[in-house]
Amino acid sequence: MNIIVCIKQVPAKDAPLAIAGNWIKESDIGFEMNEPDSYALEEALRLKEKHGGEVIALSMGPERVKQTIKEALAKGADRGILIADDNFAQLDPLGSAKALASAIKKEKADLVLTGLQSDDHGFGQTGVLLAALLDRPHATIIMAIDVEGDKMKLKRELEAGWFQHLECPLPAVLSIQSGINKVRYATLKGIMAAKKKEIATMTRESFGIQHEPTQKIEKIYVPTKTKKNRIPHWHSERSGNQARRKTQVRSAGALTMKILVITELRQGKWNSASFETLAAAQQIAADTSSTISAAVIGKGVAAFADELGTKNVAEVLQVEHDLLEAYTPDGYCVALSQVIHAGKPDLVLFPHTYQVRDFAPKLAASLGKGMIGDCIGYRHASGKLVFVRQMFQGKTAADVIFQGAAPWFASFQSGAFRADLLVAHPSGKAPVNRIAVTLTPDQIRTKPLDLFKEAKSAVDLTQAPLIVAIGRGIKAPENIPQAEALAKAIGGEIAASRPICDEGWLPMERQIGSSGQTVAPKLYLALGISGAIQHVVGMKGARTIVAINKDPNAPIFEIADYGVVADIFEIMPALTEALEKAKSA
Ligand SMILES: Cc1cc2nc3c(=O)[nH]c(=O)nc-3n(C[C@H](O)[C@H](O)[C@H](O)COP(=O)(O)OP(=O)(O)OC[C@H]3O[C@@H](n4cnc5c(N)ncnc54)[C@H](O)[C@@H]3O)c2cc1C
Repeated sequence: MNIIVCIKQVPAKDAPLAIAGNWIKESDIGFEMNEPDSYALEEALRLKEKHGGEVIALSMGPERVKQTIKEALAKGADRGILIADDNFAQLDPLGSAKALASAIKKEKADLVLTGLQSDDHGFGQTGVLLAALLDRPHATIIMAIDVEGDKMKLKRELEAGWFQHLECPLPAVLSIQSGINKVRYATLKGIMAAKKKEIATMTRESFGIQHEPTQKIEKIYVPTKTKKNRIPHWHSERSGNQARRKTQVRSAGALTMKILVITELRQGKWNSASFETLAAAQQIAADTSSTISAAVIGKGVAAFADELGTKNVAEVLQVEHDLLEAYTPDGYCVALSQVIHAGKPDLVLFPHTYQVRDFAPKLAASLGKGMIGDCIGYRHASGKLVFVRQMFQGKTAADVIFQGAAPWFASFQSGAFRADLLVAHPSGKAPVNRIAVTLTPDQIRTKPLDLFKEAKSAVDLTQAPLIVAIGRGIKAPENIPQAEALAKAIGGEIAASRPICDEGWLPMERQIGSSGQTVAPKLYLALGISGAIQHVVGMKGARTIVAINKDPNAPIFEIADYGVVADIFEIMPALTEALEKAKSA
């Protein structure tokens, strides 16, 4: 089995981020393999060990990236390819994918693997775009791969603890979810062997790619803080300003668009993020004198279409087909590209769900367009829409604009807009138009199978009034009893961020976040948790959030009511002791 695994080199996790315009100063920082890609590499090596063949590590960027390719070779990859490009950081996701796809086309690969997203740009689109450009079936957020002859049985992660099996023919492209395996270290023998392995160097120019950038990062910056909370430094308490981001700053101007909102149903119910995106569309429409169409897709969705019609939209598109009953990326892309061709919207908006990550970049690419994914807000200035998204794992924000002609595609992060601010239709009901799409079974290459949850949860954290949650700051499993002692002293439940459960340090049922439980306790004490959006969506409903983190720029402080910049190993025992004393007093 011949596997190409795409690996990216990114700034090291602890590298200080000095911003310089629309990128960071790279001169004084260290770089490392993008952690999500290391899981894809490990999976490729395991598949090779089981089925034979070769693993090629493919990367793109300046000369320093060879170091990351060498690391992959030392772990067991057979050869490497570098697409040398000093301006890689400025490339849009479609531009990067075109270069990677050109190199992949020169090889005979059965399988292309990528990580789910990069720790720097965080676009999370490469795998899906490669599938579009290589015209291969794909699947994302993959947690298990079983190769059976010329097809694979896959386990794909869905939101809120759900999974799905699916069948996918080979050749294919898969985006691997972090935590799927335990990543190996390079051995000394591997490091020595890597010295003899080949790294071929190519350039983007040599591929003769035609590409007009579809989006541009105008600037990156540390987000402005607008909500006051307290960030006392341990030992020397002081007040400071840390805040929820306030990004929906708008001003009037001349930009009139047809906006199309693609809503999402999940197992026969609304995915509520759909209404947040509809609320975003209503705000953009009000700012720009634009009109909104809202589409609902599936089979037997008339009641959902009627419900959408009660919101303030110009029309509802009811996109129905037998083959759309179960979600498939191929089916959705074929159907929605017809809807877009017919309706000619300028701006297509999606909620940034796991399903949207799986098909929307491909839909945009099939129309020659790019997508600005995972936005947390927008600005409308001088007739231009500026989208705001996070980069460097939430440590910075970025202003991103579309380039080139419409249609433009964007998705909004869960929680970025308030569904309760949705405006109802003035006359009570917008017209519902049934859209007929042409779709045949041969156009759908993956076969969705059963939906399931893993072993039933023994603990119901959703009802817990007090939660002590630990993140990677806890460092090692032997430190967890310190957090458990604190949880006991408070009388609360212990919970964790995903990496802790991936490592098996706590059971999966203790995981908080988009793939775990959603909780709303009176108190959420976050210990050594950075505050990645996938974690925050699971706990932002807590009445009071107290965060302890030694990095003052950790994104968790944006939503914390109280923050302590400190080492958890100083705080945990001191707080436990104080609580025990208070209880016995
Ligand atoms: C599709 C998808 C789904 C996901 N689902 C989830 C999910 O459901 N739940 C979830 O949690 N994540 C999820 N993730 C992963 C998420 O993106 C983050 O990678 C994860 O939440 C990070 O966990 P963390 O904060 O523990 O680790 P890190 O991001 O590594 O942060 C560790 C933090 O600890 C701090 N720290 C280190 N040492 C100390 C110390 N001694 N004292 C104080 N602070 C310290 C550091 O400053 C840092 O901020 C998902 C990702 C994807 C792509």
